[in-house]
Amino acid sequence: MKPSFRASSLDRIITCHGSRALDTKFPHESKDSDVSLAGTKAHAVGALRLIEAGAIGEVEDPTPGVELEGFDAWIVDFWVQTVLELVPAGWAIEVEGAFEVECLRFVLTGHIDVLAISPDGTQAIIIDLKTGYNPVDAAECNWQLAGYAALVRCSMPGIKQLRLVIVQPRNNEAEGYPRVSETSLDLALCDVEALIESEINAVLDDPLTFTTSKKGCLYCDFALTCPATIALKDDMKLHLTQDQFDAIPQNPSPTQLAEWVRDGKLLEKPIKLAREELKEQLTRGISTAAGDVTTAEHEITLIDGTRIFVKDGQGPRKVENLTTLLLRLGVVVPEEKKVHACLTASLDDVERTVAGELGIPIASKKVGAMSGKSWVINNLGDLITREPTKQLIIA
Ligand code: SF4
Repeated sequence: MKPSFRASSLDRIITCHGSRALDTKFPHESKDSDVSLAGTKAHAVGALRLIEAGAIGEVEDPTPGVELEGFDAWIVDFWVQTVLELVPAGWAIEVEGAFEVECLRFVLTGHIDVLAISPDGTQAIIIDLKTGYNPVDAAECNWQLAGYAALVRCSMPGIKQLRLVIVQPRNNEAEGYPRVSETSLDLALCDVEALIESEINAVLDDPLTFTTSKKGCLYCDFALTCPATIALKDDMKLHLTQDQFDAIPQNPSPTQLAEWVRDGKLLEKPIKLAREELKEQLTRGISTAAGDVTTAEHEITLIDGTRIFVKDGQGPRKVENLTTLLLRLGVVVPEEKKVHACLTASLDDVERTVAGELGIPIASKKVGAMSGKSWVINNLGDLITREPTKQLIIA
């Protein structure tokens, strides 16, 4: 049987061939986090809303009794509105379409969130919703979308022009990550099927090369046991020769600084996962006889003497009822200005609240359309200041 590749895993697998070898070595044990469960729900609710608006497709809501709230609900609003604005009138829209194409050495599969086709069948738009917090690669350098493009092209050879769009509502545009990124492919000039085929063939020909990367490791289930990430971490414990020692510069070069930033990003997920997993294991009590550690019931001591244990504590202080807080504070602080100075204004919350009160979208790409964002600009713009910043974009 030919091996199967999901388009959604291509970003990781094409960057790190070894991660696919691990995929086939171990059963898939991806843990559903709250974020991924909310993401699944947002995809289903968004697809159902698009079907109500005229799209075709079959979708089941995984948790029909549960309502999305707050920002999760806004994500669906933003997604549906963006899709309806991107797709020209009269085009057909399919949601959650399943595609499969058999190539010479493998089978490629994919689930496309939205596929829109022009009435004459020569143009299409692929739109992918991302609900996670980490900004994914923009449309023009995203292997997942290239995989979708190859699937659509093989299934519908009449398509000549293809727009690829990623919608990631959690992205912070002020930090340089657009919520909507898109690119266009002229399929007469770009052989996207051949490109994907040669990349996947390279994975099959060279299965044991592990390459760490932000785009791969951040979404990899094997980050904690992967030899490449461990090697990267273990670089911190190198024994140097005299020559290597002599070569240490007094100041870091721009390349070294960039590598620090990249590796910090790359190790962010495994370190976060390791913290959570260790906390869980120590809380329930572990028993292991690993060579380099000794373990007590709820504590671990590393070979260098570092003790790690779980201590009961309390999270940060929060006030749910701000109205009562203001009333009580006002009793001893009569000056309103001083009371208000204790609060931090969130313009995101203001945009959401105004949009809810006025029954308008929070944001709109239509020129002149009323939205929570435009209300804030028009009514509060003179109160808002912004300091210029320098942002470090890790792409
Ligand atoms: S953690 Fe990174 S280097 Fe290791 S297998 Fe996964 S993607 Fe590859």
